[in-house]
Amino acid sequence: MSATPSSLRRELRVVNPATLAEVGLVDGTEPEGVGEIVAEARYAQEQWGRRPFAERTAVLRNAARVVLESMDAIAATVVAETGKPLLEAITAEVFVSLDALVWLARHAERSLRRERVPFSQPHLLHKRGWLSYEPLGAVAIVSPWNFPFSIPFTQAATAVAAGNAAIVKPSELTPLSGAWVEEIFRRAGAPPGLVRVVQGPGELVGETLVRARGIGRVVFTGSAETGRAVAVRAAERLCPVTLELGGKDPMLVLRDADLGRAIEGALWGSFSNCGQICSGVERIYVEGDLFEPFVVGLSTRAATLTIGDGRDPEVELGPLVSEQQRTHVEELVADAVGAGAELVTGGGRPDIGLPGWFHEPTVLVGEPAARISAEEIFGPVVTVVRIENIEDGIRRANASTFALGASVWTRDRAQARSVASRLEAGSVWTNDVAYSYGSCQVPWGGRKESGFGRTHARHGLRELSHVKFTDADSGRVAPPWWFPYNGRAADGFRGAAAVVYGRGAAVRARSVWHHRGGLATLGRRALRHGSRGRQGDRR
Ligand code: NAD
Repeated sequence: MSATPSSLRRELRVVNPATLAEVGLVDGTEPEGVGEIVAEARYAQEQWGRRPFAERTAVLRNAARVVLESMDAIAATVVAETGKPLLEAITAEVFVSLDALVWLARHAERSLRRERVPFSQPHLLHKRGWLSYEPLGAVAIVSPWNFPFSIPFTQAATAVAAGNAAIVKPSELTPLSGAWVEEIFRRAGAPPGLVRVVQGPGELVGETLVRARGIGRVVFTGSAETGRAVAVRAAERLCPVTLELGGKDPMLVLRDADLGRAIEGALWGSFSNCGQICSGVERIYVEGDLFEPFVVGLSTRAATLTIGDGRDPEVELGPLVSEQQRTHVEELVADAVGAGAELVTGGGRPDIGLPGWFHEPTVLVGEPAARISAEEIFGPVVTVVRIENIEDGIRRANASTFALGASVWTRDRAQARSVASRLEAGSVWTNDVAYSYGSCQVPWGGRKESGFGRTHARHGLRELSHVKFTDADSGRVAPPWWFPYNGRAADGFRGAAAVVYGRGAAVRARSVWHHRGGLATLGRRALRHGSRGRQGDRR
């Protein structure tokens, strides 16, 4: 690796995006030290992976107690670093993490229990087989700033529940929230070194971690652009990756939808966390005559959201996380309006007496040939488009390179199921959005440029495991496909193919008759015990 630029080595300065006041300074991890941290984690994991599930469960339950005790302090850290409303810090960060811990404590053992593999083929009837799920070793978790605690924490908890060590690299914008992950597992009694946090810029500390020897999988959550770079780096070591990337979720409001609920759902789906949600609603498609009242209702409600410093419990919309993020959103809105989108409400910086990176909740009508129609907005901006019918809606919804989540709004359950089956997404919700991220029994992940692999649930646990097949064979049945090879054995296998895999009694009976000689040879071979029956058997 090239020499470390001094600008990247300095400590991380954390700023509250609402007030621009300094929140704290965090020491960056020296990239040269990352390898040793991984080695220590591997050392701790070697013991941990062999401990009984009861010990893993105890640590997870202790961690839940620590999170509950520290709820206010965790939420305060998240609000200070991201500016998000206090209520969202409690629900989407603390609640979600507790849900994961309790689900994992209850279900990890069953999800990873050894499974019997049934053999029904006649030539394998004497076999007994099992699948076991073994720990990978050390898992690297590289995280974004938008859910700076719950994303790395739930992923680390899943890794630990599967018998692994976890090394977390939080976003450089939210290092203090990320630091809680190590602190909670330490207080919960996890073995020293098992859960570690490394701090620093992604292109330096993140990349060093991804490339570190001893990492068994990289779980990356972030933008598609960085995800691609991480996957390339991991591929150099043939290290598997899970990619949880961006989204541009569509919301399909069908003509029979409950208008009031759809408006409130769109409001929350588009503007909670200031729109900085991977599965935030960015595109709304409204069928027929519902379009006009929907746009009026949504824009009226958007203009009433309380904007401000997230520490005030009445605040519903905080700032964007950085100046760069606000500039990105402003550019997308200007470009869209320039290309013909109608600005119905918002579009500017609110006058609320705070210096932070605020942006008004913004509703645009139209799907212009502009960047906004293709790129992830990741801000408090949504486009609304009238669709003529369901086919039109499905076609537009699927016309994105992203495919993380989608929602259907209708009173007709059968219709909802039918539309859901045709939407390209990792999750499709009916008359709601995104909530399943917070219910750990449901796997989370996307398709297309939203990534691949799954976190949470049984699927997330297994993704952080090696699946291994093992069997038991008494050694008394000699496999008839072993040496020696000859014409009679080949004839026998021709016959056996139709007997085992052919359809219908007539087909099987004919095959037995035609190949009776060869089948008899195979039978004799199989019945002779082990190596004794093999010696010199050329028949
Ligand atoms: P980002 O891609 O800029 O950074 C994510 C993480 O990667 C950070 O910790 C960063 O330091 C690190 N990083 C950057 N360059 C790296 C490199 N070369 N090697 C290793 N690590 C590197 O993303 P962000 O701006 O922090 O987060 C916003 C994005 O995350 C959005 O696109 C959002 O949709 C996505 N996201 C996806 C999900 C999901 O579940 N699919 C959830 C939350 C956020």
